[in-house]
Amino acid sequence: MIPRSERDGVRRAVEALLESSSTLFITGAGVSADSGLPTYRGVGGLYDVETTSEGYAIEEILTAETLQHDPALTWKHLLEIGKACHGATFNRAHQIIAEAETCFERVLVLTQNVDGFHTEAGSKKVIDIHGDMRELVCTRCDFRECVSSDSEPRIPPPCPQCDSVVRPDIVLFGEMLPAHKSERLYNELRMGFDVVFSIGTSSLFEYIAWPIHLAKDTGKCTVEINPVETSVSSLVDIRIPLGASAALEQIWDHYRRMRA
Ligand SMILES: [Zn+2]
Repeated sequence: MIPRSERDGVRRAVEALLESSSTLFITGAGVSADSGLPTYRGVGGLYDVETTSEGYAIEEILTAETLQHDPALTWKHLLEIGKACHGATFNRAHQIIAEAETCFERVLVLTQNVDGFHTEAGSKKVIDIHGDMRELVCTRCDFRECVSSDSEPRIPPPCPQCDSVVRPDIVLFGEMLPAHKSERLYNELRMGFDVVFSIGTSSLFEYIAWPIHLAKDTGKCTVEINPVETSVSSLVDIRIPLGASAALEQIWDHYRRMRA
C-alpha cells in the first residue's frame, strides 16, 4: 500500500489525464534507472566520481575538444558508458509512455537519455535532445551508422570512408543542442500540452525546466515523478515521490480503469 499523499498524487494526475488531449513526457536518467542503468551526471556521463583515473573531470573528457586532441581518451570513457548499457533494455515506464500515444491526440517525449529506449519501446514522437549513443557519425565526412550496443569498436573507431575519427551523435559537454531539435521542441511547446510530466530528471538544464514553467504560466497541469526533490518540485501542481515505473504503473492502471 502506498502512502496517502502518493495515492492522492496519482488520483489527481489521472483526473488531469482524463480531461486532456495532449501530453508531454520529459524524461531523464531516473526513467532508465529502472533498466539498471546508472544515473547519469550531466550528459552521458555516468560518473559519480569527480575525477577519472587520468585525473581529469569527466566534463573535460567528454568534450569535442578532447575528442579532437585525444580521441582514444574520450572513446575509452564513451565505451564505459556503452558497457553500462550493455544487455539493458527499456522498462515498464518506457512502455507506458509509448502506449500513451494511442490514448491522446498528441503525445511528445522530450528525453535527455542517450540510450534510445523510448524509441525501442515504441514511442514514435521522441525528441532525444542529447542524441543517441548508438548513432555513430564521422567527425569529417557524411558517414553515419547505427550500431548495436553489443559491438565493441576499435578505439578510436576509424571512419570506413575517410579514416577520420567517428563519434557518437550525442551532445558532448559544452556543445550546442542540435538546431533542428531545439526548433522542433520550440514549435511543439508553442502548440502547448494539457499535461506536462517531468519524470526522473533533476531539471538542471534550462530547456528541461522551461516546459514546466511554460505550462505553469498558461494554466496547464504539471506533474513531477521523482523520489527526490528537484529544482521544479516547488513549482509543479502534482508531485509523486516515487520511481518512474512504480508511479506510471499506478497512474496507468487507474487511468485505464476510469476510461473503460
Ligand atoms: Zn569519414
